[in-house]
Amino acid sequence: MTKNATDLRGFGAEPRLSRRICDRWDSRHPDDAAELRRVLTSGSLTGTSASVTEYETAFAKKYRIKYALAVSSGSAAVMVSLVGAVPALEDPAQRGPREVILAPTSPLCTVFSLLELGVRPIFADTRPNSFGLDPSAVEAAVTRDTVAILEVPMWGYPTVVNELRPLADRYGLPLVLDLAHSHMVKLDGLELAAFGDVAGYSTHDGKFLSTGEGGMVVTNDPERDDRMRAFTRFGNLNGTTFGLNFKLSGAPAALGLARLRNVDRHAVMRRRNREFVLARLRNPHVRELPVVPGGVVSGYALLVQAADHDGRRLVEFLDSRGIPSDIKKYENKALYEYPLLAAHRRECPRATTLLRSLTTIPLHPDLTDEDLVYISEALNAYAP
Ligand SMILES: *Cc1c(COP(=O)(O)O)cnc(C)c1O
Repeated sequence: MTKNATDLRGFGAEPRLSRRICDRWDSRHPDDAAELRRVLTSGSLTGTSASVTEYETAFAKKYRIKYALAVSSGSAAVMVSLVGAVPALEDPAQRGPREVILAPTSPLCTVFSLLELGVRPIFADTRPNSFGLDPSAVEAAVTRDTVAILEVPMWGYPTVVNELRPLADRYGLPLVLDLAHSHMVKLDGLELAAFGDVAGYSTHDGKFLSTGEGGMVVTNDPERDDRMRAFTRFGNLNGTTFGLNFKLSGAPAALGLARLRNVDRHAVMRRRNREFVLARLRNPHVRELPVVPGGVVSGYALLVQAADHDGRRLVEFLDSRGIPSDIKKYENKALYEYPLLAAHRRECPRATTLLRSLTTIPLHPDLTDEDLVYISEALNAYAP
């Protein structure tokens, strides 16, 4: 049982749990039922049905990228993106020693896709106060087995991924982006996907755009799109190239199509909620994670950082006030701290410091102004 609101009501210095802020929001769109009805009466629910093509076309247009390929999950999106970026990863029989460089601040769901492809994860440190890879750490990690650089921006905050581009080009390496958290995140006026060779999104129910389960892989390169498409449908079953089934079915695609009509409006509401909280924040012990120059957050979450002290105190304090945190929920730590990844340990002190300093605060469109005032007051009441 969670703490009961009445247990703590109004007793002296005890935190007053007057609210439980919800981290789930209602992602439905008024057109959901109409689109579902349309796909159900179309006679085809497969991954090659018209509703999937329509959803892909609408997604590519909204994200201003040439090709979009709907897949069954964000996890599949990471695998398919890597195969798109590195042709040699397609066929298990061809896989030699392969390494992909990524930050240890990424979630387990990202790195498991690498392991499934037989790729060795090489952890490189982040820039200070950022989820973005530090270019000099990437350079130090490159070996002759490196096949790609994988950037994983988190919680809707852009990274300076544009500065990894020249580095990737210098080493002739593809730049792959796991944008599961980064729908509607912009840098220099473009969606982050524009800066990678291939990028993958998740549309899991907890993400910015929801199809229940699902993902999307995007690229501007027609050859990569063709190859990835074939890979997601058993190599087109011609027996010359390898593949599995990673297609998204027609029904979730219909939901995606309806809900894509919401994302701009939701981004506006989420960004407005962020401004609302930040405008009321007066506590010198907490600050927002810096937003990189030229970057625009999506408002997927507000990232606040404990200034010069252990952020787990901030996480616990906000939790005691009924404000949910992904950091509390997933106990985020550097990936090499997990038993399955201990063999890949490479100390990344900035990444560790970052994860230890942060908490997330919900900004979703269902929060009321009263909720947001409550959150601001809780942030202001915090003392380390
Ligand atoms: C959620 C997530 C995934 C996995 O997406 P699913 O749709 O749950 O498979 C991969 N990478 C990141 C960064 C994520 O947040």
